[in-house]
Amino acid sequence: MSDVIPFHLSGAPTTGADTLEVTSPWDGSVVGVVSVPTDAQVEQAVADLDAVRREAQATPAHVRAAALDHISRRLAERAEEIARLITAENGKPLVWSRGEVSRAVSTFRWAAEEARRFSGDLQRLDTDAAATGRLAVVRRFPRGPVLGIAPFNFPLNLVAHKVAPAIAAGAPILVKPAPATPLSALLLGEIIAETDLPPRMVSVLPVPNDRMAALVDDPRLPVISFTGSGPVGWAIQRQAPRKHVTLELGGNAAVVVNDDWPDLPGAARRIALFANYQAGQSCISVQRVLVHASVYDAFVADLVAEVERLPTGDPTADGVQVGPVINDAAAERITDWIDEARRGGASVLTGGGRDGRTVAPAVLSDVPAGSALAEEEAFGPVLTVAPFGDLDEAFEIVNASKYGLQAGIFTTDVQAAFRAHRDLEVGGVIIGDVPSFRADQMPYGGWKESGVGREGVRSAMNDLTEERVLVLTGL
Ligand code: NAD
Repeated sequence: MSDVIPFHLSGAPTTGADTLEVTSPWDGSVVGVVSVPTDAQVEQAVADLDAVRREAQATPAHVRAAALDHISRRLAERAEEIARLITAENGKPLVWSRGEVSRAVSTFRWAAEEARRFSGDLQRLDTDAAATGRLAVVRRFPRGPVLGIAPFNFPLNLVAHKVAPAIAAGAPILVKPAPATPLSALLLGEIIAETDLPPRMVSVLPVPNDRMAALVDDPRLPVISFTGSGPVGWAIQRQAPRKHVTLELGGNAAVVVNDDWPDLPGAARRIALFANYQAGQSCISVQRVLVHASVYDAFVADLVAEVERLPTGDPTADGVQVGPVINDAAAERITDWIDEARRGGASVLTGGGRDGRTVAPAVLSDVPAGSALAEEEAFGPVLTVAPFGDLDEAFEIVNASKYGLQAGIFTTDVQAAFRAHRDLEVGGVIIGDVPSFRADQMPYGGWKESGVGREGVRSAMNDLTEERVLVLTGL
C-alpha cells in the first residue's frame, strides 16, 4: 500500500498518530490510508481558526477571488485523477465522478465571482421623519469560524459547497469529510494550500465521528454547516441550540408526470436514470414517481424497460451508470425495505436483487402506506410508481411526505408550474425535468425534515454572515 495520506492542518500537510483505511465499495480493496488528527492537532486547528478570523475577514476580495479561481483551475487540470479517486472511494461510476469534478470546478469559479460581488447596501432612513438626516450602510460580516461537515455521496462537491462560500465570505473553516470518502477532500486541501490565503484559514480534518461532539460544542466555532442524514443533523442542532446551524438533509423526491407532456418516453428515460444515478445515493434522486392515470400503464412499461437498460456494474468500466452502494449495511437495508414493501402487497416490477453491494435497480408499484419505502429516504436504486387523477391530487401526494427538498414536474401547463411553485413544500420545483437537477449557484435546500437554510454559493454566504448596520447622522 502507498504512503499514509496527510490531512491539512492550517494549510500544512500533517500526520497524526492513528490512520483510517479507505476501501472501495466495489471490490473492498484498500484505496488509501489516511492519517487521523490527534485531539491536540484538532485543538490547534480550532485555535488557529479563532486567531485568524480578523485576518481572514480583512483579506482583500481580490486575493480571495484569485484563490478561488486558482482552486477551480487546478481542479480542472487534475480532473481525471480526482474523478478516479472519487470512484475509488465512493464507488460511483466514472461518468458521475467526472460530472462531480466539473461541478466543483464551477462551484469554486462561481464563488470567485461572488467574492468580487459580495458588498452591501445603502439604505435611506429619512422616509421616517424621526430619522431625517440619517443614512444606513448595511454590510454582511462573517459570523465566525465555521465547522463544515460533509457526507459521503458527493465527497468533493459537497466539501466544495462548505469551503468555497466560506473563503468567498472571508470566514475561516474546518471541514470534516465523511469517514468513508476523505480522499478527494484531502486532495482539495492540498490544492487550497497552494493559494495565497492565510494558511490558518482552512483545515481539512478527517475527525472520527465519536470525537465530533467536542467540536459541535466548541464556542470558537459559532457556525455549523452540516450536510448528511436527518438523525445526525437534528442531533447536532439539539446539541448546539445557540449556534447558527444549517442542515442539508435527506429526502424522498417526487416527480409528477402529467398527461400533457409531449415526450413521455423521454421523461421515462430521464426518470430511470436519475432514480439510479450514483445507485440512488443522491438526496434528490427520484424516489416517488406519480403518473397521470390516463397514461399510467404505458408510462410504467416504458419506465421499467428504461430501468432494465441501465448499464450496472464495475464503476470504473466505460458506460456503466449504476455502481455499488456505499457499504454492505446500505445494500442490506435497501433490499430489506423492498422485501417489507413486497410483504405488504407491493409488486416488484423489476430489480431488487442483490449481488454484494450492488442492488439491481428496482421499480415497485402498490407500495403500502406506512412502509419504509413509502415514507423514508431509500438512498438506493429503487423507485415507486403510483397513479394520480389530476395535478391537485398529485401535489397533495408530493406534500404528504415528511421531506421537502425538490420536486420535478413534467408538464407544459404554465399555470400548473406557478401553482406548484406556490404550493409545494419543497426548496425547489423543476419544471420539465427530474427533481435531481441542481446548478451549483442556485439556492438549494429543504423544507420540513429535509433541513434548514440554503446552500448554493450566494445563499451559503448569506448564512455564514450576518448583517451589521452603520448609521450615519447629519446627512
Ligand atoms: P451521515 O449523517 O451519516 O454523515 C454525514 C457527516 O456527518 C459525515 O461526515 C459523518 O462523519 C458526520 N457525522 C456522523 N456522526 C456525527 C456526529 N455525531 N457528530 C458530527 N458529525 C457526525 O450521512 P451520510 O450517510 O454521509 O450521507 C447521506 C445523507 O446525506 C443522506 O440522508 C442524504 O440525503 C444526505 N444528503 C443531503 C444533501 C443535501 O444537500 N440536502 C446532499 C447530500 C446528501
